[in-house]
Amino acid sequence: MADDLTNEATALLQDLIRNACVNDGQVSSGEEVRNSDLLTSYLAGSGAELEYYEPQPGRRSLLAKIEGSDPTAPTLMLMGHTDVVPVNPDGWSRDPFGGELEDGMIWGRGAVDMLNLTSTMAVAFKQLARRGFAPRGTLLFLAVADEEALGTWGAKYLVEHELDTVRSDYVITESGGYQVPTKAGVRLPIMVEEKGTFWSNITVRGTPSHASQAYKTDNALVTAAEVVRRIAEYRPEVEIGDTWRRYVQGLGLPDALTDPERIDELIDSLPVGLGRIAHSCTHTTMAPTVVHGGTKTNIIPDRVDLQVDVRTLPGQGGEAATALLMDAIGDLADRVEITSNDDPSTSSPVDTPLWDSLSRVTARLCEGSALVPTVMTGGTDNRFFRRAGSVGYGFGLFSQRIRFEDYAKMFHGHDERVDQESLDLSTQLWLALAEDVLA
Ligand SMILES: [Zn+2]
Repeated sequence: MADDLTNEATALLQDLIRNACVNDGQVSSGEEVRNSDLLTSYLAGSGAELEYYEPQPGRRSLLAKIEGSDPTAPTLMLMGHTDVVPVNPDGWSRDPFGGELEDGMIWGRGAVDMLNLTSTMAVAFKQLARRGFAPRGTLLFLAVADEEALGTWGAKYLVEHELDTVRSDYVITESGGYQVPTKAGVRLPIMVEEKGTFWSNITVRGTPSHASQAYKTDNALVTAAEVVRRIAEYRPEVEIGDTWRRYVQGLGLPDALTDPERIDELIDSLPVGLGRIAHSCTHTTMAPTVVHGGTKTNIIPDRVDLQVDVRTLPGQGGEAATALLMDAIGDLADRVEITSNDDPSTSSPVDTPLWDSLSRVTARLCEGSALVPTVMTGGTDNRFFRRAGSVGYGFGLFSQRIRFEDYAKMFHGHDERVDQESLDLSTQLWLALAEDVLA
């Protein structure tokens, strides 16, 4: 049985990859209607109710439902996005949209982010529907558009306009579930918290004049360069959150990673990839990323706009983030105007029935394993659902062929791939979880 389902998940994943629903951030991109159509034909005949939402032409999301018998029982949503980010084919050793299968490995954009989970969720959902699964609580499968560009035409839209249909007690989406070997056994990171984004535009003003007389001019570009330097050099204070502490303890990592006095020194001595993760999970980060300014070679510029990607910690509101930026900019603060888009951090507790169910089920599928809560430095569609009251976790299961280092590099990177054993594990996970939570 498992083999048949793995073959179904493999074929479905290959087709989802080949549809190349590339989301470049423009409203007209993505065209997720193609993956929605593919999933519709896959789910045809399963007996499940299907509904569609298309707030912009082509940006279609599909919601499949097995209605529970007891309205007081919890609702579980399996949510997978159907879009992918663009590729640079030069860096790939295979066709990024070929969906090639070789040596049990499926290659292509979306293989880990996150068409692998979307396909296994669909396969498990169909299998449950075929079996006549009649749970007490309702099971939802949401194949959602536009995750890769802030969820505007996908999860954000659905939570804002269709909350009654998508409201769920429990939501599972990306990402986590790679196996980390420790002395105490395999540990499986599960995302329970996401940092916030506080994308900021900083306008720096100057006074225009002729660039042939540069002496003592008020040059916005020169001021902006100093603002950038100060932001880049700024060292926000360490904050050790509960989730980070549990993660470090759960993986048996050095205690210094939870000690505000010692952590910065340790981070400095780690391989840079690990250092970056440890740093961003315990600090607010600020990265200047875009600059626009100046009009002509012979004009002293009077305006420069800088964009800074600020990532906030749990409990850090917009005011605190602005104060941090101002502190970094120091005595140039009165020379700038800051406008920001505050999308704060979200998290879910770990003492929930969903956590207990996942622990039971994964301990069976991955012998001797235990869950470890973790922080995500980026954002997922879970943030909209958490704010609407759901317990939202990021999870899936991977085989030992997918090591954490490779997994992290493959997100939005080259040579994205996943093995069939991982598809099998995730399919079994969704089947067992639905039974455990809803039956
Ligand atoms: Zn994703």
